[in-house]
Amino acid sequence: MRPMATDPNRFQAIISHCKEYGFIFPSSEIYDGLQAVYDYGQWGSELKKNIKDYWWKSMVQLHENIVGIDAAIFMHPTIWKASGHVDNFNDPMIDNKDSKKRYRVDHLIETKAEEMRNEGRNDEADGLIDEMDKLLSTDDFDGLRQLIINQGIKCPISKTANWTEVRQFNLMFSTQIGSVSDEASEIYLRPETAQGIFVNFLNVQKTGRLKIPFGIAQIGKAFRNEIVARQFIFRMREFEQMEMQYFIRPGTQKEWYESWKEERMKWHLSLGISKEKYRFHDHVKLAHYADAACDIEYEFPIGFKEVEGIHSRTDFDLKNHQEYSKKKMQYFDSEINQNYIPYVIETSIGLDRMFLLIISEAYAEEDLSTAEKQDSRVVLRLPSKIAPMKLAILPLVKKDGLPEIARKIMDDCKTHFRCFYEEKDTIGKRYRRMDAIGTPFCVTVDQQTKQDNTVTIRYRDTMQQERIPADKVREVVLKEINT
Ligand code: ATP
Repeated sequence: MRPMATDPNRFQAIISHCKEYGFIFPSSEIYDGLQAVYDYGQWGSELKKNIKDYWWKSMVQLHENIVGIDAAIFMHPTIWKASGHVDNFNDPMIDNKDSKKRYRVDHLIETKAEEMRNEGRNDEADGLIDEMDKLLSTDDFDGLRQLIINQGIKCPISKTANWTEVRQFNLMFSTQIGSVSDEASEIYLRPETAQGIFVNFLNVQKTGRLKIPFGIAQIGKAFRNEIVARQFIFRMREFEQMEMQYFIRPGTQKEWYESWKEERMKWHLSLGISKEKYRFHDHVKLAHYADAACDIEYEFPIGFKEVEGIHSRTDFDLKNHQEYSKKKMQYFDSEINQNYIPYVIETSIGLDRMFLLIISEAYAEEDLSTAEKQDSRVVLRLPSKIAPMKLAILPLVKKDGLPEIARKIMDDCKTHFRCFYEEKDTIGKRYRRMDAIGTPFCVTVDQQTKQDNTVTIRYRDTMQQERIPADKVREVVLKEINT
């Protein structure tokens, strides 16, 4: 295993860049923000939408046997009883008595292991994580507390090791539905989108006349009252998930699990990200619903961390919904002439984490200094197909009919992809602003355009420029964004 390359400065630079260039703002900023909640700005919302579309296209459009739904966030409260979230959606936490701060036990121990790795004590770090995994898998809370004490782990705020017992906390947000507040009207904000798929399983199967194996996909908000939420959009209290539940014949789960692992990794690599930045992490402690589970981890500037989970969920959810709702959740498989409750393989990726991954991968600070002058730029090397803005159209000057020609190019392109028009400032400054938001192409309209109808196209990554006919701009951009 390679040592973790964590780079707090780079992470901070990315966070600042996201704010400065309209990608992500802290929520309610004028009221000093709301912890672990963020708003996407003008370019951020566009990039996020493009990531969603790219996922949706690969999962739904390119699979004839996968369909999408859009279920409500509010659901009947018994759903969360049946799914196990009321009883099991807990994290072991520990409080520091001096600072009164609460921590997730696994995070405290993982941070310690990371410190060890930074000091080159990799074997010790691996040993510590192994020990933690063992204690977590047996819910040995006394053992976990003892491990924290033995390792001399201190609260980062009070700097003391004055710890409480380890306790479990439920991560679901609850609220009241209707005008009377009593216990019966208490409902939860969904902590995952998957249950909306399970409870609609037969509606979709029957109305869509779907045959097993088939999948149901969904993109939507999920809410978790995360206790430690301090890593920008990596861990939020309100976030979005892109999930797909694949319904299969019992007994075939091993093959489908492997096949979805492979397919999802291919999806990540199709964005041009190098293989070395990814790894699989098999779960030691399986969630209450799974018979096999792994995470796809990416090497963020804060270390290797989960971006997507792939879970073999057995028939746990459908079986429990059948029991709690007293409605049959069975499927009749005409090929083998049998009724059964399908098994499920789930792929669940956090949209916001994927956003962070894309930005972390794309963000580059480049030194462009020459012997004559010092120069640098910040560029987002985003894949063209998901870049928020595909093309900037820039008349060199604001006169001589150049804006009119530029507007014509804009009209020719804007129904096909997102374009940006700008007349102000020097061309150099305008290029740099486009680099900073990751626009792959800029075209400049100048005096020569009036003579031969050619424009200068500038490529973001190489900064190379060449002249092409103005009426070819649309084609060049479309070719690149459709590959
Ligand atoms: P973690 O261990 O990081 O808390 P998890 O294993 O609980 O995550 P899952 O329940 O498997 O996560 O959810 C699937 C995906 O949803 C995760 O891989 C992640 O990308 C995303 N996700 C989960 N919790 C959050 C959160 N609080 N903020 C942003 N994304 C999240």
